[in-house]
Amino acid sequence: MILLVPGWAADYPEFWNTIRRRNLWFIKLRYLAVISLIAFLLIGEFLLDFSFTSTQIQAIIFIDLSMLIYNGIIHYYRPKVGINPAKFNAMHLSLLQMLFDLAALMLLVYFTGTIDSPIYVFFIFHMVIGSLILPGIMVYTICGIVIGIFGILIFLQNISVVSSHYIVGIYSDTPAHPITYVVLFFLVFTGMMVITVLIANRIAKNLLRREEQLRTTLEILNEAEKAKQKYIMGVVHEIKSPISVSKSFVDLILQNYLGPVDEAVKEKLLRIRERSDEALHLINDILKISRLKLLESTNPEKMYLGDLLEECIDAKREEFESKNIKVLVYDTRKKKRTIMADKDLMELAVSNLVSNEVKYVPEGGNVQFNVSDAGDNVKIEIVDDGIGIPEKDLSHVFDQFYRAVNSRRQKFEGTGLGLSLVKEIIEHHGGNITVESPSGIGNTDRPGAKFTITIPYHLEEESEKEESTLKPLEGGL
Ligand code: ADP
Repeated sequence: MILLVPGWAADYPEFWNTIRRRNLWFIKLRYLAVISLIAFLLIGEFLLDFSFTSTQIQAIIFIDLSMLIYNGIIHYYRPKVGINPAKFNAMHLSLLQMLFDLAALMLLVYFTGTIDSPIYVFFIFHMVIGSLILPGIMVYTICGIVIGIFGILIFLQNISVVSSHYIVGIYSDTPAHPITYVVLFFLVFTGMMVITVLIANRIAKNLLRREEQLRTTLEILNEAEKAKQKYIMGVVHEIKSPISVSKSFVDLILQNYLGPVDEAVKEKLLRIRERSDEALHLINDILKISRLKLLESTNPEKMYLGDLLEECIDAKREEFESKNIKVLVYDTRKKKRTIMADKDLMELAVSNLVSNEVKYVPEGGNVQFNVSDAGDNVKIEIVDDGIGIPEKDLSHVFDQFYRAVNSRRQKFEGTGLGLSLVKEIIEHHGGNITVESPSGIGNTDRPGAKFTITIPYHLEEESEKEESTLKPLEGGL
């Protein structure tokens, strides 16, 4: 298989996306060309008094139909053509399209007058397109072949070995050209083609070089970002130790290990402990984000998201109970299926969402976890009748450090980092998360929020799902 792809681009998804998009664009453009050709025939015949000969009409219709057919076939097979440089790939499809188009154009030019054809300039258009997508040597070869065939054709027509098919009606007289005109025309045509390829190829090469530079810069930036995250992790970790130690000393004092503590001092110490907890919480969030950014430690394995959800709810069971929050888990799936995910990261995401339910649903509230199938995805809806999220904050709650105005006003402790982390984890696993408020189960005082996550199933393995159940947590209202 001819290698048409520059080495650096072979593993570069954006490069292939561009080629595939361009192929589709060519296909659409070709449908337009098919229509334009018919329009040219009809307008020429009926409005402009061109007198197409029956050979010309048959030839143009034949070429037009052929274009339609090969375009339809290419259109159909395009999505199936891959991006493996060693096999027939999207680049080969571009080349194939160009060759078909040039053949069709050559025939069309021949049947509309060759040297007198109004459409021979489309060769230039093809040379520009070819230069933008194909390696230089290939475009020069194609350009050489086109010039060669065109030159031979006009020469043979000039000495009347091959018949001419100029369009009657465009010229007042039969266009008869002296050989000097033919030679001059050919030289100008050749010059135009070669200069076009030279310039377009040069521009294309520069563009490719720039793209390569950008890609290298992006890689350097990614490496720098990783180094920065490692540095942050190191520094933050260092800060964590003294805070933890101070907190443990405060704990010792509060537990009266160093003798009885005055009530006023105790109150201050409790504040210190609370503040230390907040700082530790923030540090842990930052550490988790840095780890996620590095993503070197991800370890995907097959796992059941429904099971993980139950574990996370179980871990918070006491807190739900102490606030008298009624928790319901609905699983409407017929089968239990696995997803492919890093268990630690996924646990971090789900437990963050469950923790928010404990935090933002007031005493006596309700939380529902609905697990269902959404095509090849598992879908989890977390619906509550808690404080809800004001409309203007909805689009920002996944931003780092963003906290909705009502949660700040009502003095809920938090860092605004949890949901950004959750989103990053879910998207890293090919999934999606959305939020709505009101949730549909709340009221005007407590509109509630609804978070929906979807994660693609691991398609290989499937196992029977245990009984689908409605499971209220013990102790719920
Ligand atoms: P944190 O809870 O630490 O502030 P998060 O990133 O987890 O940070 O959440 C961001 C913001 O989204 C919260 O500050 C809160 O305003 C809002 N939020 C998250 N979950 C809920 C919920 N279940 N109900 C109402 N608001 C929520």
